[in-house]
Amino acid sequence: MIIDRNPVPDNDDERVRALMSYDIMDTLPEEDYDAINRLAAYICQAPISLVTFINADRQWYKSNIGLPNSDIARSKTFCRYTIMSDDLLEVPDATKNELFADNPAVTDGWVKFYAGAPIIDNEGYRVGTICVVDTVPRNLNPEQRDALTTLAREVVSHITLRRQKRQLEESVKIHNEFFNLFNNSPEVHCIMDREGKIRIINQSVQTVLGYKPDDAIGLPIWHFFPRGDAEKMISMLEDGLRSKQKAFDLELRVISRSGEIKWISWSVIAKDESWYASGRDITPQKKILAELELLSLVASKVNNGVVISSADNQVIWINNAFEKITGYGLADVSDKVLGDVLMGELTDIAIIEKARELSKSKKSFEVDLLVYRKDGLPLWISIINSIILDAAGEVDKYVEIIIDVTAKKKAEIELIAAKEEALQLNRAKDMFMSVMSHEIRTPLNAVIGVSHLLRDDNHAEQTENLDILKFSADNLMTLINDVLDFTKIETGNIILEKIDIDLRHMVSSVVNSMQFKAADKGIYIKADIDANLPGYIIGDKTRICQILLNLVGNSVKFTEKGGITIDVKVIEESENEARLRFEVADTGIGIKADQINNIFESFKQADESITRLYGGTGLGLAITKRLVELHDSRIIVESVYGQGSKFWFAITFNKSNFTPIKQNTTTVEIGLKLNVLVADDNQINRMLIDKVLKKWGINADFAVNGKQAVDKIELNRNYDLVLMDIHMPEMDGLDAAKYIRSIKEPYFQQLHIIALTASMLTNQMDMIGDSGMNDYILKPFDPKVLYDKISQFSK
Ligand code: ADP
Repeated sequence: MIIDRNPVPDNDDERVRALMSYDIMDTLPEEDYDAINRLAAYICQAPISLVTFINADRQWYKSNIGLPNSDIARSKTFCRYTIMSDDLLEVPDATKNELFADNPAVTDGWVKFYAGAPIIDNEGYRVGTICVVDTVPRNLNPEQRDALTTLAREVVSHITLRRQKRQLEESVKIHNEFFNLFNNSPEVHCIMDREGKIRIINQSVQTVLGYKPDDAIGLPIWHFFPRGDAEKMISMLEDGLRSKQKAFDLELRVISRSGEIKWISWSVIAKDESWYASGRDITPQKKILAELELLSLVASKVNNGVVISSADNQVIWINNAFEKITGYGLADVSDKVLGDVLMGELTDIAIIEKARELSKSKKSFEVDLLVYRKDGLPLWISIINSIILDAAGEVDKYVEIIIDVTAKKKAEIELIAAKEEALQLNRAKDMFMSVMSHEIRTPLNAVIGVSHLLRDDNHAEQTENLDILKFSADNLMTLINDVLDFTKIETGNIILEKIDIDLRHMVSSVVNSMQFKAADKGIYIKADIDANLPGYIIGDKTRICQILLNLVGNSVKFTEKGGITIDVKVIEESENEARLRFEVADTGIGIKADQINNIFESFKQADESITRLYGGTGLGLAITKRLVELHDSRIIVESVYGQGSKFWFAITFNKSNFTPIKQNTTTVEIGLKLNVLVADDNQINRMLIDKVLKKWGINADFAVNGKQAVDKIELNRNYDLVLMDIHMPEMDGLDAAKYIRSIKEPYFQQLHIIALTASMLTNQMDMIGDSGMNDYILKPFDPKVLYDKISQFSK
């Protein structure tokens, strides 16, 4: 018979795995096993008793009575044979057993007897033994054998229990971990019975809905739903279940403990008799969504075009309005640069380039641009661009609002054209006035001049007629001046001058100039001037003078007895400024209360009978009022019909620290030694000037146009002074002066040229200066003014 010295069960690997599953090998001694072992030793009356487990190569003693070591190689054990069968193995005398006789324990002499029962677990694996050993040969009685087998089973129940306990602990641990997960989830997880009553719910119910889990447990889930929503959900679930649906995704509103409505996204599964539901709070997302919906509603439904472009400026979205305005759909513009699509023949590329530059440097812009619709029609649009930056501050998108401003632009262009037209009309009007006044003045000039001369010649019998002639001419001249002035103001052609004015002197010359007329009528005229009046102020002397002359002139005209008082008062004064109040009061006919509001209107007089009686055009006060307004002030009239009138206004002037140089002004006309050239196309004018100049002993030469004047100057080179009319045929005065100044020789540069002009238009004055002339004299000229201007050149 062949003896197997190393028997191994067929299923040894699985057996070892089964042993390992009990996790018993090499554990500390335990009282339970020791007790079993003691019982075995006691029942079997053996000095050595062991509870052992055998793995692939080793037998380890869980409980040990009588042996010094704790384990032994599997190959040296008796028990390797025991685990080969389900039965107890008994070796009465090992020395006589061929399997064991050579075993070192036997040959050493301390083992004679062995009995072992396999420990067979519930799956049938023989994982170890319980055995007794004696040093003498012997036998177990049947009870002892039975007991040993029973104790082996007892070990099995212990290791099984141990494994179960461990598994239980593990599953409890896993359960706890799951429970932690369950409770720490931000989502609400709950398990309900078929009727929806909550059986288990996690901690989140507190954060999301404000209920403690314990308060929620036992409540039907419907308790948390707004009225109506529960019914909807129930019918939805029932419908689903009827069609064998087991899983549901629902977005529903719930009410928190504090009454707040929250949106929860639920995943619900029906399983067995329970509902398993997980719900995520999506209230913030819902809010954002609602806002987004609103925004997209705005973008898609407004009448203005909206275009969204990517960071590299390519269109990604347009709204309906854009398509309506431009005719281009998304397919036409998608992935293209907006400007490239819209621009056309007359589009201002510079604006597009500027706009692109701005958006590149992250700057928003707003521009108006002429572009073209898809059908080719021109379109004015206003583009308002906004830049959307990402978190890193880089351009994410561009949003452009497009407004159709074609109609507005058209109106604007028409308005500009109308304005331009009006401006041109005004210029034409000015020009016309200037030409007309020149044309009228020239002959008038002659009339007045001649009457001057004739009067001086003292033909006694003609004097009265001459007076009438001069009076009419003077009146005509005032009328022309008024009309011209009025037009200038109306067309905005007046710019106030700023020169130093000696107000005292100015007021007294106004008084002087009216003195004769007043004396003629037997009325007085006086000035009452504040002693604190500053020496010099800065203002437009001509205009202030004109205002006062108009008012005083009216007062003289409308006063028959008593007289006129000019009153100038300082009403406010600071270091640099003085506010002055001017008043012209008379004791004349006065103005009726119902007419007082009309008198400042142009061509309006208080009463038609006044025109018959006093003459006048009704322009004087209209001009005066506007001149006062040009000084940021207002003219006020107070009048009692039949007793007199009072006109007053106040103007703030800058003070001047001008100090005049004392001059010895001579009013005596002495003879002048001068060689003068007079250029004037009007024969009477030439005659007139000739007579005046001759009176002063001046030798005058004449030219009939600018060309002739230039020729004479170039030829003779001996004139001290040229009096040059502006309007002349062939070559006008301005061109003649320019020509003279263009000759570089000193004589032509230094020759004094005085313009004779009938025009007082500002641009005319500028042109006179620009042409190189030194001065001007207004026609019709006052011989005294002419004398003052030319006497300084006398040799
Ligand atoms: P006119 O050339 O007719 O004087 P104005 O514009 O200077 O034109 O004056 C308009 C009218 O106001 C006069 O016609 C006259 O009826 C009235 N008016 C002006 N100043 C006085 C005054 N000082 N006294 C009475 N009436 C006056």
